[in-house]
Amino acid sequence: MAELSGKVALVTGAARGIGYAIADTLARDGADVVIFDLCAEEDGAAAARQITQTHGVRASFKRCDVSDFAGVDAAVKEVIKEMGGVDILVNNAGITRDKVLLAMSEKDWDMVLNINLKSMFNTIHACYRNFMKKKAGKIINISSVSGLMGNAAQANYTAAKGGVIALTKTVARELATRGINCNAIAPGAIETPMTANMDQKALDALIATVPMGHMGKAEDIAECAAFLASDKAKYITGEVIRVDGGIAM
Ligand code: NAP
Repeated sequence: MAELSGKVALVTGAARGIGYAIADTLARDGADVVIFDLCAEEDGAAAARQITQTHGVRASFKRCDVSDFAGVDAAVKEVIKEMGGVDILVNNAGITRDKVLLAMSEKDWDMVLNINLKSMFNTIHACYRNFMKKKAGKIINISSVSGLMGNAAQANYTAAKGGVIALTKTVARELATRGINCNAIAPGAIETPMTANMDQKALDALIATVPMGHMGKAEDIAECAAFLASDKAKYITGEVIRVDGGIAM
């Protein structure tokens, strides 16, 4: 039997990029998946359909802004009703709005903190009782090497991603005796639509900082998430795993 069969995985920001690769890999390992994303209805439905066609699991899409506390709470309640619960929560949705601090607007600070960090409070809060009742659960938060090292022109993003690490360790401590693991992954430079929008000069400069000399793939992050979601990682909690070609070693 596949490692995750019978499990339900909720993955945010999973209509494309790293989130889609994670949803697809968890489905490959047998999990039913629910995608939360803000994309167009048809794109989210197409992503879910593709996962079902490829792996034969149940997959569905809910259009949901993860920064909206009440909206997330309502959407998670629907998932629990429809799927019978949530076993694996992957907090992946994230955005960048880069500028040096002096040029950064309050709006861009708030937006990045709300979507990249507050979102994780929202989803974990909404799933908390479900995990406690099950006395089991895997929470996987996508941080960034920027949250470990800081990065010029990313005050909002690095503060959020550093906050994700602190949140991960706190949730891990709160839930450690309940059979619930909470871990973070810190990706380095990964080929996705997010990095495809960077200008070539900035991208070349970024790649020059990678000891392995090249960017990673969304699948590199997805395999790490699949490991953390599995029983193989049952004694790992509060950990931050870098998947970065060596950038932050
Ligand atoms: P991406 O290609 O831009 O995908 C992000 C997804 O999140 C999109 O589908 C986007 O939907 C969705 N999203 C954005 N805001 C949302 C919201 N408020 N509610 C729900 N969904 C929302 O990004 P990615 O590169 O795959 O990044 C995924 C995660 O990895 C992020 O947390 C990012 O910070 C982190 N990360 C990425 C890299 C990298 O090099 N790519 C490195 C380190 C960390 P829309 O279609 O609406 O935009």
